[in-house]
Amino acid sequence: MKSIMKIHIKENDTVFVLTGKDKGKQGRVLNINRVKGKVTVEGIMVATQHKKQTSGQRGETGIIKTPLPIDISNVRLVCPRCNKATKFSREEVKGKLVRRCKLCKEYIDQV
Ligand SMILES: [Zn+2]
Repeated sequence: MKSIMKIHIKENDTVFVLTGKDKGKQGRVLNINRVKGKVTVEGIMVATQHKKQTSGQRGETGIIKTPLPIDISNVRLVCPRCNKATKFSREEVKGKLVRRCKLCKEYIDQV
C-alpha cells in the first residue's frame, strides 16, 4: 500500500480522541503524517522521557514530554463553530474545497 491516505484533518485543527488512554480528550493537531495516516495531537499520548544529564550541558536535563502520533481513525474533528466532535462533508465553494460540519451546517474552513 503506497497510496497516500485521504486525510481531511489539517494542522491546528482541534480533534477529539475516540479511543485509547486519552479517550474523550481534545487537542490541537501539531503534525500529520499522511503516509502513515497518523496525527500528533498536543497533550495526547504524551510519552515522558527522562533525559540523562550530560556533563557540561545545562538546561537539557529532566523530564521531556513528547506527544506520540496516533492513528487518524482514532480522532474526530471538532467543529470550531459548534464545538462538537463531528463528521463533515466537503463542498466546493467559489472554486475551493471547504469542509462543512454535518451538525451545525456551518463551514469549518473559511470561505
Ligand atoms: Zn458544527
